[in-house]
Amino acid sequence: MNAITVIGAGTMGNGIAHVFAQKGHPVTIVDMAPDALERALATIDKNLSRLVSKERISELEKSETLARLTTSTDLTSSVASADLVVEAATENVDLKLKIFRDLDAAAPPHCILATNTSSISITKIASVTNRPDKVIGMHFMNPVPIMKLVEIIRGYATSDETCEKVMHASSALGKSPVEVNDYPGFVANRILMPMINEAIITLNEGVAGVTEIDTVMKLGMAHPMGPLQLADFIGLDICLSIMRVLQDGLGTSKYAPCPLLVNMVMAGKLGAKSGEGFYVHTRGSKELVVAPTFA
Ligand code: NAD
Repeated sequence: MNAITVIGAGTMGNGIAHVFAQKGHPVTIVDMAPDALERALATIDKNLSRLVSKERISELEKSETLARLTTSTDLTSSVASADLVVEAATENVDLKLKIFRDLDAAAPPHCILATNTSSISITKIASVTNRPDKVIGMHFMNPVPIMKLVEIIRGYATSDETCEKVMHASSALGKSPVEVNDYPGFVANRILMPMINEAIITLNEGVAGVTEIDTVMKLGMAHPMGPLQLADFIGLDICLSIMRVLQDGLGTSKYAPCPLLVNMVMAGKLGAKSGEGFYVHTRGSKELVVAPTFA
């Protein structure tokens, strides 16, 4: 698989484009928002410069990587000669179904259509195409250039051949792909989100405060970040929507989102991206967590 098209130039899309281009693939990034495309190129440039300053890559490798990147606002022409499309557009089921219908109509028959969705069923996405055997989940982790895992999700009809090709392409990126089946939350979010939800329930019941809960999990379990701080960085709206997918898809009260999480999302307290969640943040910043908002 040589030519790659990435749909969506946001947080994940720019990282996915970066790693494929750095490994020698020509990559087209598609977004309907021209400013998102500009920001994506600027982010990739900045991240490559960091690798140059750490002497991980040369200036030449950086400029060759950037030269492999093309941007476009037109999906149809951008997938006409693609071997693999990785969709990383906004997490919205209707939007993704429309994108996959369009991709199926425009991409060549051999092209594999992968999605980076965190929670939407691969089988459902594949069902709107005429090539469900060539539709697969390729769930990269954030930040993509750093995180090793790619969760490879087989839909009901995904073929062995598609799975092998995508596992191989992921290994060639220097990643560690892990194959899983298409169940709500896959593996990563099936386990991570109930843990975060339980931390919020623990806070809500007054068992301990934000700092105490995060400190117990950091120092006691060797987690690099506590679950409440992690929830703030993921986005509380995303955490809530994944809990709803688990609750609806698995049908047990075990996955009911904590009422405090529901209330915080309704109040617009979404974590780092809104400036406040379990901590007060300087907008969008990772480092400047100033204080927990709950004792
Ligand atoms: P984001 O909001 O940063 O970026 C989404 C981009 O998609 C935006 O630039 C938007 O303009 C673009 N877009 C929307 N509709 C489009 C269309 N029709 N055609 C082309 N582009 C379109 O989102 P993100 O955080 O990068 O997430 C993207 C996907 O990756 C989602 O499915 C999400 O669940 C998944 N994901 C996110 C993370 C994470 O930590 N952010 C981790 C793993 C997976």
